[in-house]
Amino acid sequence: MPGTGRTYYIAGAGISGLTLALALAKFGAKVVVLERGPTISEFGAGLQISPNARKILNNLGLDEVLGSHSLEPDGIDIYPYLRPDPLVTLELGAIMRERFGAPYAVMHRADLADLLYRACRRFANIDILFGVRSWSVESHERGVTISIDEANGQTRTGRGLAFIGADGVHSRTRTEVIGGPRARYGQRVAWRTLLPFDSVAGQLALDRVSVLFAPGSHLVCYPLPHRRQVNLALFAKGAETTGELGTRPQAPWSDSRGSRIEVLLSAAADTWTPWPLYTVRTDTWHTGNIGLIGDAAHAMVPFQAQGAAMGIEDAAALAPLLIAEASAETAFQKYYGQRHARVARVAALSATNGRIFHMRWPLSVARNLAIAAQGRRGHLRRLAWLYSYEAQIEAAPISARIASK
Ligand SMILES: Cc1cc2nc3c(=O)[nH]c(=O)nc-3n(C[C@H](O)[C@H](O)[C@H](O)COP(=O)(O)OP(=O)(O)OC[C@H]3O[C@@H](n4cnc5c(N)ncnc54)[C@H](O)[C@@H]3O)c2cc1C
Repeated sequence: MPGTGRTYYIAGAGISGLTLALALAKFGAKVVVLERGPTISEFGAGLQISPNARKILNNLGLDEVLGSHSLEPDGIDIYPYLRPDPLVTLELGAIMRERFGAPYAVMHRADLADLLYRACRRFANIDILFGVRSWSVESHERGVTISIDEANGQTRTGRGLAFIGADGVHSRTRTEVIGGPRARYGQRVAWRTLLPFDSVAGQLALDRVSVLFAPGSHLVCYPLPHRRQVNLALFAKGAETTGELGTRPQAPWSDSRGSRIEVLLSAAADTWTPWPLYTVRTDTWHTGNIGLIGDAAHAMVPFQAQGAAMGIEDAAALAPLLIAEASAETAFQKYYGQRHARVARVAALSATNGRIFHMRWPLSVARNLAIAAQGRRGHLRRLAWLYSYEAQIEAAPISARIASK
């Protein structure tokens, strides 16, 4: 096996870190994942997993289990503010498989993390250390040296070829190790909750995603039938400190009494969890043999539902480069070259969506007309560059080179 004898360290057992661990282990490399939490984290709520990410997860052997833990929605109902009927239903379902070679699905973040974790556990060459108290890492000519303060109070030292920070939006690897910037707060909060499946029947289609526009905010809802729950996320302006936010969103509009959005917000009562939204924009993704993936490198606002997908793509692009290149530093340089422009484009699209979704009258009228004019399938053309991306194909020549070594 080409990667045998090579050791890689990853900080963070989130979606990005676990995907990278699996991808590296498949090449035969030894992987040590350092997770500061005591277990795989249950935080977060719903995730939309688009075909570009799903293809990668399928290639890692997760297709079947993902199928049984997710829903392939038929479409996305877009509701303009206070309108009882959708303006348009964007088509998903079978057409996504036909056009992009994999489903568009919705699931719970914790389920995806758990499925990735269980897949990792089947590899004897992946070691996941939970409850890591602290670690330090140094890059040198031939790799990295690492010291880890483990949960049991013992210190372990080791050497490897590379260290990858997949430690999320507030990444220590980015801010303390490679000298990158801190995450920026964008004045917006995601309010998340999960409701019992039947509690929204009659308000929303339970085989689709629903997006409800309102002045200065929007609500995204989708069913998670395998959990008998519905995921709700309301995005609105808000303070950075969760203590000031309280337990339910303050509706930034006052004329919605009896409307669908008001009924849904009321149904959730005090079950909301506020989640201040940060972004990371930096060109510093690596230094020496230490690099970043996922939110650690490029956290974005979630208005195109692509943050986790980008972390998954990062992992698929970086793993074969780390295995094939003579040094991790070269692998990180090539990875940056492959990934940075695409991720920046997706982050810019996400930010633009936020502005469009939150438009107020009269701009909202023009927005609604433009969305209606695109029709049920306009998004398939507009977003083909996003959903048809093949991280594996870009990496394929490298994988082929490794196989012939
Ligand atoms: C409201 C909302 C909705 C979203 N919806 C979608 C969606 O529909 N589709 C989509 O693709 N994306 C979506 N996203 C984005 C997605 O959730 C994130 O981009 C993704 O979870 C990032 O994964 P990650 O593994 O890079 O980071 P994280 O999930 O943050 O994982 C980082 C891990 O590192 C660990 N860690 C942190 N610091 C250290 C340290 N010093 N040492 C060791 N371990 C450490 C943490 O405990 C954690 O386990 C959404 C985000 C939000 C907020």
